[in-house]
Amino acid sequence: MLLIQNGRVLDPYTNTDEKRDVLIGDDGVIARVEPNIDPPAGCETYDAAGLTISPGFVDGHVHFRDPGQTAKEDVLTGAAAAAAGGYATVICMANTVPTCDTPEVIRYVTEKAAGCPVEVLQAGAVTKGLKGQELTDFSALKAAGAPCLTDDGVNLTSAGLCRAAMEQAAARDILLSFHEEEPSLVPSPGVNFGAAAAEKFGVPGARASAETAMIARDIALALDTGARVLFQHVSAAQSAALIRAGKALGAKIYAEVTPHHLALTEDDVLTHGTYARMNPPLRREADRQALIDALADGTIDMIATDHAPHTAEEKARAFANAPSGITGLETAFSVCNTVLVQTGRLTPMQLIEKMSKNPAEIYGLTGRAVQAGNFARLVLLDWQSETVYRSYRSKGVNTPFTGVPLTGAPRAIVTGARVTAR
Ligand SMILES: [Zn+2]
Repeated sequence: MLLIQNGRVLDPYTNTDEKRDVLIGDDGVIARVEPNIDPPAGCETYDAAGLTISPGFVDGHVHFRDPGQTAKEDVLTGAAAAAAGGYATVICMANTVPTCDTPEVIRYVTEKAAGCPVEVLQAGAVTKGLKGQELTDFSALKAAGAPCLTDDGVNLTSAGLCRAAMEQAAARDILLSFHEEEPSLVPSPGVNFGAAAAEKFGVPGARASAETAMIARDIALALDTGARVLFQHVSAAQSAALIRAGKALGAKIYAEVTPHHLALTEDDVLTHGTYARMNPPLRREADRQALIDALADGTIDMIATDHAPHTAEEKARAFANAPSGITGLETAFSVCNTVLVQTGRLTPMQLIEKMSKNPAEIYGLTGRAVQAGNFARLVLLDWQSETVYRSYRSKGVNTPFTGVPLTGAPRAIVTGARVTAR
């Protein structure tokens, strides 16, 4: 048994924001959520004074590089990073080596993660080998446990194939998750087209219209087919406007945004170089402001990290030759609290909604409220302390937030009656 004492339950499912103790049974199920519970005999206690107790975060977009690229990350180090970041559940993308386009690869990942305090789910690919030519066996991947299908990393360039994928997905009630960047509009990836950093590093950059053009097309196809479609890591103001319009038209569409697109702009690439190189790239301040507005008004549903570890050697290459992507699981809450809550753009409850409740609901994860009868998957959060990140559980250190003063941090996750401290 575990009794979490002196904390404040902050739970968007029940709209609770009250000082409460939480008693969890030996079976890991929450037994009571009440003020001032006396610890039963032999019960372990955790003093959560000054902390909130919330549904653990859900990240619909991480890269654990396993199988195939475990010098960058593996399932176990990725899960440890997720636990340190306050995550209850993460969803791994399918661009592994080999590609996660069969039930066998999905089972390899989920079985390897079975003992982790974090629930690790594995997405399946939309097309075999992410080649954009032949659809995978959607039913088999869903049956193996894939919570969504995605070719993340590359765009589904053929409109006809994309429409066929949506028809199949709609018939099987499968969520499709799309990385939207039309390759012919991306002269070079990783930095915004025309940014000062593009000039500094001698590359042309990626146009925002590469993203907005694909989002516009896929809203039309989602309306046409009735498919549920998620737009990954939205980066541009016009994309948010199109998604707002698409939702108004009745499309079953969702959107995610990363902490770094909410916190940084193309100007930060001048300072951080390859540690601020990602696809889609950081855009302008007006884009960043539009993304925050869209998150606040519900146009963008949720925050996802796109945690993308690479080796230090790869990121030490010249900008043009370095891989895109940055890590994010461990710093996400501190960055979002600093940029969104401490500035008054979101309330703490809204941030929990966008990091926990909304992604859980979109991916069909149930029983997440801090409520008697649910298996405990909780996060204990400090919203006030100054936090500076200098080392990580992830194998990847490719983040621009190292050494940056941030506010607040996850202190622990609770999985059943087990506490995993950061
Ligand atoms: Zn992507």
